Amino acid sequence: MKSKGIKKNVAVIGAGYTGLTVAYRLATKGYSVSLYERSDLLGGLVAGFDLDGIPLEKAYHFLYTTDKAAIDLAKELDVYDDLTFHDSSISTYYDGKLYPFMTPVDLLKFTPLSIVDRVRTGLVGLYLQKLTNWEPLTKVTALDWLTRYNGKRATEIIWTPLLKGKFDKYYDKVTMSWLWSRIHVRANSKETTQEKLGYFKGGFRVQTEAMARAIESAGGTIHLGVDIQKIVPAHDEADGRMTIVTDQESSTKTFDDVVATTPSHVLAQLTQEHPSMTSEYRTKLTSIDYIGAAVMIFSTKQEISDYYWHNINDDEVPFLVLLSKTALSGIESTGGRYIYYIGDYVTHDHRYFSMEKQDIMKEWKDGLRKMFAHFDEDQIVSEELFTFKNAQHIVDIGYEDKMPEYRTPVEGLYLANFSQIYPDDRGVNYAIKEGEMIAQMVMDDKNKKSQSK
Ligand SMILES: Cc1cc2nc3c(=O)[nH]c(=O)nc-3n(C[C@H](O)[C@H](O)[C@H](O)COP(=O)(O)OP(=O)(O)OC[C@H]3O[C@@H](n4cnc5c(N)ncnc54)[C@H](O)[C@@H]3O)c2cc1C
Repeated sequence: MKSKGIKKNVAVIGAGYTGLTVAYRLATKGYSVSLYERSDLLGGLVAGFDLDGIPLEKAYHFLYTTDKAAIDLAKELDVYDDLTFHDSSISTYYDGKLYPFMTPVDLLKFTPLSIVDRVRTGLVGLYLQKLTNWEPLTKVTALDWLTRYNGKRATEIIWTPLLKGKFDKYYDKVTMSWLWSRIHVRANSKETTQEKLGYFKGGFRVQTEAMARAIESAGGTIHLGVDIQKIVPAHDEADGRMTIVTDQESSTKTFDDVVATTPSHVLAQLTQEHPSMTSEYRTKLTSIDYIGAAVMIFSTKQEISDYYWHNINDDEVPFLVLLSKTALSGIESTGGRYIYYIGDYVTHDHRYFSMEKQDIMKEWKDGLRKMFAHFDEDQIVSEELFTFKNAQHIVDIGYEDKMPEYRTPVEGLYLANFSQIYPDDRGVNYAIKEGEMIAQMVMDDKNKKSQSK
């Protein structure tokens, strides 16, 4: 048995925002922390890369003004001065035309819908923004609810393309509570009708690297490029409760506690040989479906569009969204280049996961040309494409019963990932909140245990 004075030894699996927050909080509270990440980069879905020497994220990210946990953490890490909020602008591309889509007046001018449908869409949006009792919405799919309340045509034109783009074949399974939360959070983040979105000068890595530095200064260790393959009981309990086996030859290490921030189904694989894992919990872990995403980033010398966000509601264009990062945060920090993101969510068996990057980018550039007659491929200076396997989970009817608990049946093993964030949608702010909450849970459990001795 360990004596009371010895620091608790904790492994954190995954160096996305959740894992980094857990590791940061525990390390700075005196725990001996080892953080393991299978990729060579910090940040998980928010990991950065450089395009023409410009620091960017592989997937587009922003913060809302109401993302308090992320803002507070930036202040604590002394990187708040790098977080700047900018005016956003939203448009919808439908039937070969781009429409502004930010204000009630924009909606009233959206001629593809009849005036009755426009007014109805505005009223439905307002109702969802004000609604606080979301629980009945967990029982109905977004598609059914919208068809009923917003009408068939408005649903087909406005909502179905967005649901299909975001959830692929699961588009008719997603609950209305998920969509309510997106609309509610977004609308309530605005102080005026002008939405403001936040971005770190130098990219989100400014914050993730600050956390990494703080973890290491507090004595924690960070192991990038290490894939955890198994969590098994420790041979000798004097060393701790669990052993984690990595992909590095014969590398194993024993810990008192392990916090997995991997997708749920990954934890099911990792604990296959652990005798305390129950079939009930494993069923929860494997019953949550995830889909992937593909994201293209490119730079141009000419501006293609001055909107920040372009929802694509047109079957002729083969992606969900086009974003201009520079329309949001300016071209001062990009050496005069315009930076664009194109994104789409797809199931794991989608051809994008086996296609050459160049071929996906070609299809998307063809789509871009349909949207903007003035766009020419030669305007692109640099381009990249990334795919993500576990980018979004499917929040379907009965989801609340599937959600795995934070404390797993294996004593000292915790799970914290975005599938447990509900009814809110996943996001950096929620990853930080969840990371803080799990770190506190680990500390509380330790205190309870030492008091009961
Ligand atoms: C296209 C896209 C756009 C988004 N835009 C926004 C946005 O604008 N604003 C916002 O707030 N949020 C946004 N999000 C959501 C946000 O990225 C996530 O909510 C957040 O990053 C989740 O962090 P996480 O640490 O929980 O998970 P992840 O970032 O997925 O981290 C989990 C980590 O675990 C690692 N891992 C998994 N298995 C193992 C293993 N066996 N061994 C070692 N390591 C392992 C993974 O490599 C990964 O790094 C977006 C997401 C996507 C996909």
